[in-house]
Amino acid sequence: QAKAAGRNTLRFFDPQMQAAASARATLEADMRLGLERNEFLLYYQPVVDAQARITGVEALVRWQHPERGLVSPAEFIPVAEQTGLILPLGQWVLETACAQLVEWSAQASTQRLTMAVNVSARQFRHPEFSNQLLSLLRVSGANPYRLKLELTESLLLSDIEDAIVKMGELRSIGVNFSLDDFGTGYSSLSYLKRLPLDQLKIDQSFVRDVLNDPNDAAIARTILNLAQSLDLGVVAEGVETKGQHEFLLRAGCKAFQGYLFGRPVPVVQLDLRVR
Ligand code: C2E
Ligand code: MG
Ligand code: MG
Ligand code: MG
Repeated sequence: QAKAAGRNTLRFFDPQMQAAASARATLEADMRLGLERNEFLLYYQPVVDAQARITGVEALVRWQHPERGLVSPAEFIPVAEQTGLILPLGQWVLETACAQLVEWSAQASTQRLTMAVNVSARQFRHPEFSNQLLSLLRVSGANPYRLKLELTESLLLSDIEDAIVKMGELRSIGVNFSLDDFGTGYSSLSYLKRLPLDQLKIDQSFVRDVLNDPNDAAIARTILNLAQSLDLGVVAEGVETKGQHEFLLRAGCKAFQGYLFGRPVPVVQLDLRVR
């Protein structure tokens, strides 16, 4: 970054950058406190099948800040990544998600639900990631077959050999893997073939205009065909309207997530009734 800006650029004295740096430092200090004070919580968004039955949820972290109110992950996940706080935060997310799976496993009506958890690059790259997750699964008693880790293309491509090894270790005990925001990155098809994935998630940017933009429609269809050829599942993200849902259904999509089926909510508000 410094290189790109040029050797002689007086980055340090750029007032805008300094303001951004100090905002980041405040956020970082706040996050540390927030972790100690248990200000983070998980929201859950339903994932449904072709009959609109809930098959699982995606866990989405929120921060209940004492002054700022509910802070979205788009704001704090990047800072957590930069500062390393993603390690304790990511571990807390996995622990909480596993505890929820264990709770659901005790009841017939919820025991088959899957739990998707987003894992960020720095967290996944940590040399102890697989070991920690293996031991968490053992200690918590959560069923690894119900757990889905969502990774992004950039994360996987940054060190594909390492990713393949880690995914293999976790998959051998049943953990599933999804490629999140698919289509927005740069995966080549040969990489895609090598990765031990279970599922692709069509990014919501393609779903949004799928009815009006022929390019987005073509991309959505291409992802569905590709997934079928590679024997992968597909979830369409960000489905908000009946029109989008019908288009995707007709194109062969069998799993959906979006406001049409349910917004992310705290567990007590989650409506798990079969519709
Ligand atoms: P993501 O994993 O792609 O999650 C989907 C995002 O789309 C969520 O935003 C969700 O609330 C939103 N969404 C779902 N359905 C709709 C819809 O119909 N319309 C629209 N407009 N949006 C919809 P959210 O919860 O703000 O999370 C944003 C991103 O933050 C996530 O994107 C994920 O990359 C990251 N994130 C969230 N929780 C975690 C976490 O526990 N760990 C890590 N590392 N990242 C997380
Ligand atoms: Mg996700
Ligand atoms: Mg996504
Ligand atoms: Mg995203």
